[in-house]
Amino acid sequence: MKLSVVIPVFNEAEVLPTLFQTLRPVLDGLGCEYEIVLVDDGSKDDSACILEVAARADSRIKVLRFSRNFGHQAAITAGLDFSTGDAVVVMDADLQDPPELLPEMLAKYREGYDVVSAQRVRRDGETLFKRATASIFYAIMRRAVDERLQPQVGDFRLLSRRAVEALGGFREQHRFVRGLIAWLGLKEAIVPFRRQARAAGTTKYPVWKMVRFAWTAISSFSALPLKLSLYGGMGLTFLGVVYSVLVLYETFVLRTTVRGWASLVCIQLLFSGAILIAIGLVGDYVARIYEELKGRPLYVVAASTNLDAAAKPARAVSLGATIPPDRELWWNDVDLEKVRARVASVREVAR
Ligand code: UDP
Ligand code: MG
Repeated sequence: MKLSVVIPVFNEAEVLPTLFQTLRPVLDGLGCEYEIVLVDDGSKDDSACILEVAARADSRIKVLRFSRNFGHQAAITAGLDFSTGDAVVVMDADLQDPPELLPEMLAKYREGYDVVSAQRVRRDGETLFKRATASIFYAIMRRAVDERLQPQVGDFRLLSRRAVEALGGFREQHRFVRGLIAWLGLKEAIVPFRRQARAAGTTKYPVWKMVRFAWTAISSFSALPLKLSLYGGMGLTFLGVVYSVLVLYETFVLRTTVRGWASLVCIQLLFSGAILIAIGLVGDYVARIYEELKGRPLYVVAASTNLDAAAKPARAVSLGATIPPDRELWWNDVDLEKVRARVASVREVAR
């Protein structure tokens, strides 16, 4: 059998040499054929250069280069589209997903599971705040997205070829790959692991990206926010009716209407806010429908190495450009000295 390892890469030059160093012995020890599909998601550092050097040293290292940053989920999708293994593992470049788990995941695959998910067992040092927000996130996701969504499972998973092909049928623009996998409902095994800190470099998921990601997860699977805004609107209307009765009573019986100015302003502000939020939610869904309708590609592959450049996955652009091996630096904007040092260390590893 053949195993594919799909790795999205966005500005990971710091960690790539360590990644190859750690991954290679594990893969060699599996005793099966393998390939590593690295997707450069529009990196601005010398990741592209390092990947290219590694790929030229070993034809099992395959590289896709996006024309710009299309996002983590698009990079995973492209990696899956171009992978050829009987089983495919998706993992992060930063070694937070330990390659040492691969033999165990592969064993589960051989038992007949289509999806083998690595579940993060909490680190002891995590704060109460972090644990609380994480459980709230997973509780909401399970309710809004799919109850088959496993808590504490990220994108570190093994998929059978069947599962990859099934997943390849989903070509939606706003993607939440975990949700799509849960939605498929295939036989899933869970392998627990301890998530460690990044081996090097910094996170490529700042808070705003995480919030956007969570919102994509919810809105691409559920109309729950729209329903909540409807229920909120109904509740407020009910309160409005009750208050109106009170106001009428004050006007005609007590004759003290002027007194209510402050509460009127508060209510006005509250209602305007609620209405704007509701319109905003509807607007966001409409915008997503609009983007979906245009049917634009999920990603653009500008160059590839050791891959079938002619492959044309649905709703994606592959420009079919394979970089000729004799062409050197097309990265004019990088620090050459740094690149040379890194390239030397990668060559060392590749040997
Ligand atoms: N990544 C990517 N495109 C992006 C952001 C991240 O391909 O726009 C990759 C990144 O290189 C890494 C993986 O997605 O391999 C996970 O990112 P990161 O480790 O920064 O996320 P965290 O573990 O901090 O949530
Ligand atoms: Mg990480």
